[in-house]
Amino acid sequence: MRVDYDKREIVCSVGDLVHESTYRRIGVERGDGFRRMWIGQDIHSRRAEQRAGEDPKYRAEVHVVHRTTLAGWSITITGRIDGLSVDRDEQRVNIEEVKSIHFDLELEALYRSEKLQRHLYQLLLYAYFLSSQPDFTGFTFEPQLVLIDLVSGDTKIVDTEFDRDRVATTLDTSLAKLIEELETAAALRVAKRAFADTLHFPFDALRPGQEEMISAVARAVYQRDSLLISAPTGIGKTMAVLYPALRQSLKLGKKLFVLTSKTLQQDAAITALRLLNDGSFRVLRIRAKAKMCAHTEMICHEDFCPFAARYSEKMEKSGLLQHLVTSMSYFDPDITFELARDREVCPFEVSLELIEQADVIVCDYNYIFDPYVGLKAYQQENDYGDCVLVVDEAHNLVDRGRGYYSPELHEKSFDDITKHLMTRNCWVEGWEELLELLRAHFHELAQVLEGDVKQALCEPNRELFIDQRTEWERLVLAYIGWKIDNRIAEEDDPLIDFYFKLVKFTNLLAEDGDEFAHMVEKTQDGIKLKIFCKDPSRFLGKIFDSAHATVALSATLEPFDFYRKTLGFPEDRTAELSLPSPFPRDNRKIVVVSEVDTTYKRRADHYDRIATNVADIGDAGDGNFLALFPSYAFLREIAERLPPMRKHVMVQRTDMTDYERNAILDILRNRSQKGNLILAVSGGMYAEGIDYQGDMLAGVMVVGPALPQVSFEQELLKQYYDEQYGAGFEFAYLIPGMTRVVQSAGRVIRSETDIGVIALLCKRFTQETYTRYFPSDWYEESPRELVSRKPALDVRAFFDEKTIKPQLRLVF
Ligand code: SF4
Repeated sequence: MRVDYDKREIVCSVGDLVHESTYRRIGVERGDGFRRMWIGQDIHSRRAEQRAGEDPKYRAEVHVVHRTTLAGWSITITGRIDGLSVDRDEQRVNIEEVKSIHFDLELEALYRSEKLQRHLYQLLLYAYFLSSQPDFTGFTFEPQLVLIDLVSGDTKIVDTEFDRDRVATTLDTSLAKLIEELETAAALRVAKRAFADTLHFPFDALRPGQEEMISAVARAVYQRDSLLISAPTGIGKTMAVLYPALRQSLKLGKKLFVLTSKTLQQDAAITALRLLNDGSFRVLRIRAKAKMCAHTEMICHEDFCPFAARYSEKMEKSGLLQHLVTSMSYFDPDITFELARDREVCPFEVSLELIEQADVIVCDYNYIFDPYVGLKAYQQENDYGDCVLVVDEAHNLVDRGRGYYSPELHEKSFDDITKHLMTRNCWVEGWEELLELLRAHFHELAQVLEGDVKQALCEPNRELFIDQRTEWERLVLAYIGWKIDNRIAEEDDPLIDFYFKLVKFTNLLAEDGDEFAHMVEKTQDGIKLKIFCKDPSRFLGKIFDSAHATVALSATLEPFDFYRKTLGFPEDRTAELSLPSPFPRDNRKIVVVSEVDTTYKRRADHYDRIATNVADIGDAGDGNFLALFPSYAFLREIAERLPPMRKHVMVQRTDMTDYERNAILDILRNRSQKGNLILAVSGGMYAEGIDYQGDMLAGVMVVGPALPQVSFEQELLKQYYDEQYGAGFEFAYLIPGMTRVVQSAGRVIRSETDIGVIALLCKRFTQETYTRYFPSDWYEESPRELVSRKPALDVRAFFDEKTIKPQLRLVF
């Protein structure tokens, strides 16, 4: 729904009127129980084909627009009729609304429910809109609700009588109610606008760079632009972005989404928002569904989960939403969880309902960018015109974005399904044949993999996948019915998981474009098919395009051109801001060790020398040091060769438990004189995911430029970006690698008082190809200044100079 409060204009859909505000819900009761939004997608088109064959006048998906005025508001209502047949000779109009449901499980309940009345009201509104058009004066209207069984395809028709005057009265009542809600919202907006005018930056002084950020963000939001900000850690980016973004959003009546890739960033955003909030605006943090689930097993269906059963009714009776909205300005997920659980309603569902009420929503990227997780009920048809998006650590969105559009199907899941169904006494027909067909197709595609070739491009048969999707849909529904009948609840069901993967795969197979590659791969467990999305910019760009404004920030968002292209920011609406480190250069020592070579071909010859350098530099200063390697294999080679050291050495492993990871952090927090050395991988949790506060870290060594390993997929990326921009190596390898280097280096100096060392080990760090991605504040005139022949001595000298000598104090 779009509302222009100044012009008093409303543009809404029939759905907005049909669902009462308390029913504008996202999950279980909107049919999302078994993520049913994916199920039944073919049924509408099959019905349309069948009806068009029977009746030449039949048209499917007919758009209708109705305009009216009430209480000084102009209202435009849009809708889409599933099926329409107009007989002008007989002056008769047949209108169909098609709903697909599971007859065995849902039909009886539907007949008794209020939901049926809503479906019928929707139909009657369509009839009313058409009857208001001069073309249809004197026509008879025959509205029909068509119910189709998802399993058998059987049809049931529910007729309803069209009484024009009655519908007009009901519509007026719905609109009056909507206007009343909007008038209340308008009053609230005025109050928030007034608050926005009084909102002040919460600190006495601005740090260098913050003023520029504040003006750039305010301008971008005001002008409906996008803004890319690259500014080093510790400059106070979070507050310098959130303060103006919030102020402008409140003034303009927009919702502010703060999107992060890690929960740690969410903590920082919440802390900043709390400093700004005196209770005048509402902040919601959305926590992952798995963590907000109150049931023992996450099966979101009324028949399985007591927190989903009679959800609406319990919400109405408990007044929970009202209680939350009137009693708190920060919707803390822990509190929401407790309160919802006490009232036996799904906590996750409640947190989603709070989106309507919140001014700021802090959540993971997924809720906006993942097409299969997105906040469907909040944004319709990818329209984010009412939202201001802040994308934190936006350099992470490139890979995340690729992942959202790169589904995989693995032959191993066929075996899992077989084992799963064989061990149960479950009767569902036809699954063996379907799996056999699919397996045969996988092997047919894998014929290109000869000898040692493990991966290749292939052309999956789209028709076969569409047929499979339809057949599995019927089968899965029968299977779900069987599970419900037998009260079988289990979180990990290989058949259901496979089905949703198949749907995603088939849907994306329909996408054409050079950015997609279809791959077949031989793995230890069988054949894998993958749709690899090399470039998600087309999809992400649509979101940025429709958003009111977007601010993307990171310590490493340069070169801007790379991020503008790979993330799809609109060329004509995107401004850029690059800020240098505000901290004294003297507090940081950067050394480049050029005597070692970490290239894949030469690194083995240099392992000993690298190990010696890592040990010497690590022991050259007190406190904790971090050495980062391009891969675990490389890391292990150096760990084995490390000479005895003063420092305690800890090594990151792929199979570390959460307990072990946290134990290392605890050790770092406990200051010991000589400190520790951690060997870890670039891009991993120790390199990017942790805020090393205070003097947790005295130095970082980055061993090699951390380019992604050469692989089939990376080579596809290289080729793609070569064709697109003539910059294959830069886009696929160099920039991602150097981004990691700069990210890693940024761990050391995070405040004005931090003192630390950055050592870059590889001769490539002297070559212009790599050094042009160094932040310009790393050197005075040329990156060559950083090369050190005696790095350990230089590091020791730096720390000696910085060490504060004990002062002689006279005490009387
Ligand atoms: S409580 Fe858990 S299982 Fe139940 S509806 Fe919520 S998320 Fe789903």
